[in-house]
Amino acid sequence: MATAKTINHWIDGKALERAAERSTDVFNPATGDVQAKVAMATPAQVDEAVESAWKASLSWRHVSLAKRTKVLFAFRQLVDKHQHEIAKLLTLEHGKVTADALGEVNRGLEVIEFACGIADLSKGEYSENVSTEVDSYSIRQPLGVVAGITPFNFPAMVPMWMYPIAIACGNTFVLKPSERDPSVANFCAELMNDAGLPPGVLNVVHGDKVAVDRLLEHPKVSAISFVGSTPIAQYIYETGTKHGKRVQALGGAKNHMIVLPDADMELAADAAVSAGYGSAGERCMAISVVVCVGNAADQLIPLMQERIAKLKVGDGLDGSSEMGPLINKAHRDKVAGYVDAGVAEGAKLVADGRLLKVSGRENGFFLGPCLFDNVTPEMSIYKDEIFGPVLGVTRVGTYDQAIQMINSNPYANGVAIFTNDGGAARKFQHEVEVGMVGINVPIPVPMAYYSFGGWKASLFGDHHIYGRDGVHFYTRTKAVTSRWPDPKHRGVNLGFPTNK
Ligand code: NAD
Repeated sequence: MATAKTINHWIDGKALERAAERSTDVFNPATGDVQAKVAMATPAQVDEAVESAWKASLSWRHVSLAKRTKVLFAFRQLVDKHQHEIAKLLTLEHGKVTADALGEVNRGLEVIEFACGIADLSKGEYSENVSTEVDSYSIRQPLGVVAGITPFNFPAMVPMWMYPIAIACGNTFVLKPSERDPSVANFCAELMNDAGLPPGVLNVVHGDKVAVDRLLEHPKVSAISFVGSTPIAQYIYETGTKHGKRVQALGGAKNHMIVLPDADMELAADAAVSAGYGSAGERCMAISVVVCVGNAADQLIPLMQERIAKLKVGDGLDGSSEMGPLINKAHRDKVAGYVDAGVAEGAKLVADGRLLKVSGRENGFFLGPCLFDNVTPEMSIYKDEIFGPVLGVTRVGTYDQAIQMINSNPYANGVAIFTNDGGAARKFQHEVEVGMVGINVPIPVPMAYYSFGGWKASLFGDHHIYGRDGVHFYTRTKAVTSRWPDPKHRGVNLGFPTNK
């Protein structure tokens, strides 16, 4: 029997060749087969990666902005050139369809392009004559070694929200990607190598809680960026900050889409179906609740049903597939369990994907699109983040009831409103207590030059991720007050310095 290949840690500019002491299976979600094993780091291996990053940080922080930018430009070119290979790795391990995988790579590229502007982004400020012949200025300096811990659903893009900016700022990086789809992290680390990044500036350790806990307590790690589910985000934030680290921890979501009766219903139906079932609902910005105001549901649901009936679910490598499988069997069964619970709790199942079979892929982790009507806030399908192709419609009488429902929800990642009334949209953007808002746009993921982040249980910490918030998170400011010696400044004065 052929032995499955092992995906190993990437430390100090190369893949570790030692056999892994611990490992876990990596599946192809479309076939259900184990296609590889991934090494699971021990605390000693995490220490090795941090030590490599620490040594590299002593020189990388002194590398000129021009040289750092050159590496990032080269990396950008390589990711662009290899986007189809990256997309294929994504599809093989995550399951998402090729077009979606290419979209992920391209959203990651935007952040690399943003990081290429680091010379401008990291400029400090200067004030002349804050007091007579005294000048003040601020500079931004790197933190040292920073770590990123990332989820399974965007194995290329989410790490790219972090390491290009952190590295551009002069930090070195230890990435702990999801153990479920680990290959892309190594592939990109190798591209960074080819782009001229010195060994140790970007390391990848694979693993689980063991690796994460070591990063959280390691004295040479200065900051942690985390993206994943809310309970783990909260744990990361609390543990990391307890160990004196700067932490940004982005959590889960329950994204609502309000549809007002005046909306363009064809557009709203396209948007709800695309944003609910794209990537099999495994997106933190997926729409999972459609809040229909007045009679909107009666118009919208039939239009959604028409579209759902035409969706092609299959292996992501098949160019005709629009929706792929879920990440693994346990998750597929958990999501199907929510559909059972929704029926038991009294919601009306108007599209049932539970019995879907994909011909030739009978062992894949597929679940067809499911749509519920008459979902109410006490049901588990409303309360929990399902993270699968299950969309619920709730019916409310007024806009005020809709906004009250959204603002009472503990999650606050993304939200959307569909309406042709500019005044209603403006009122909504002002009143809604959610970090990212779409107006007739269902998945309002900000461009790289804005920052990404939710509110409430969707983000722990003070900084959103990437954009200017990213630069601020990965640097600390130093304020300098300077005066050049002049005889007229001589003389002892025990008073507190004041401006003159
Ligand atoms: P997860 O929280 O299970 O895992 C995220 C990371 O944490 C992984 O690297 C994993 O190995 C690690 N981890 C898991 N359990 C841990 C533990 N007990 N202790 C320490 N580390 C642990 O998330 P997931 O299932 O990989 O990803 C899906 C979740 O991520 C969803 O909740 C989704 O909403 C969220 N997500 C959020 C955003 C965002 O920007 N807010 C983006 C993408 C995904």
